[in-house]
Amino acid sequence: MSAVMKGILEPGYTKGGGRDMGKQETGRPGNLDNLQEGAEQKVVFITGRVHPGETPSSFVCQGIIDFLVSQHPIARVLRDHLVFKIAPMLNPDGVYLGNYRCSLMGFDLNRHWLDPSPWAHPTLHGVKQLIVQMYNDPKTSLEFYIDIHAHSTMMNGFMYGNIFEDEERFQRQAIFPKLLCQNAEDFSYSSTSFNRDAVKAGTGRRFLGGLLDHTSYCYTLEVSFYSYIIGGTTAAVPYTEEAYMKLGRNVARTFLDYYHLNPMVEKLAIPMPRLRKEKPLPYKHPLLRDPASNYPNGKGDKKSSVNHKDPSNPF
Ligand SMILES: [Zn+2]
Repeated sequence: MSAVMKGILEPGYTKGGGRDMGKQETGRPGNLDNLQEGAEQKVVFITGRVHPGETPSSFVCQGIIDFLVSQHPIARVLRDHLVFKIAPMLNPDGVYLGNYRCSLMGFDLNRHWLDPSPWAHPTLHGVKQLIVQMYNDPKTSLEFYIDIHAHSTMMNGFMYGNIFEDEERFQRQAIFPKLLCQNAEDFSYSSTSFNRDAVKAGTGRRFLGGLLDHTSYCYTLEVSFYSYIIGGTTAAVPYTEEAYMKLGRNVARTFLDYYHLNPMVEKLAIPMPRLRKEKPLPYKHPLLRDPASNYPNGKGDKKSSVNHKDPSNPF
């Protein structure tokens, strides 16, 4: 069962370029010497599939991983400045058994973060130990925890966040979902909500939100089991595996905006070789197109097309 930990992704570190990005509007330090020797490492921790029936969360997670290990300029910049720890499957036994929500022993693991047992909730126990260990390491700054789920009644992608007494912290928490909403046409900020319901007390997002300090943000990322509506339209677009993975890529890309790393990508941009002759695009039956590109207002077209010239817009 400890095999779940093998899924953690640790891209090879490279020494940072020593660039000071100045102070961000959020009041957070903008120094990005993250991976320089001895410097504090900024860590993004992502988990998925704690609920075994929520298969879309695995596609979103796959999209994040595939993008982060790619040679895309944005991925290279993200790897140079942040450390991503990913446990893509917190409930492998439940997945193997085909359970919808519980583990082998019948526990909803996402209600046991407060006191996970190494015997009854071993994967949760292991991941929590790692998170607490990183939190206590003075050389590590655990900045994000995102737990990926799928929702059976809501549409679109959206997030749950926490409520804090500190108004500024509460406001800062809204930044990441707002940025994600700008990057992902299927992500809805209006469906994103912040709560402290008693019933969610044992979830990763709630527990870690209480444990980690004011520089850390904890979210549940939910994605619909079935469809999404793009802003300004009314028709529901059925989710596909590719659309889930695209949401994952957009989640990864949003860290670029959050940490103001866009100038670093422009430096890496390699001009595309000029084609000798433009070839006409092969005909594609309308029914076989990416559903997101079928919108007459061009919104879907714009966002789903690949832009080779602008490295900050890979999707
Ligand atoms: Zn869930």
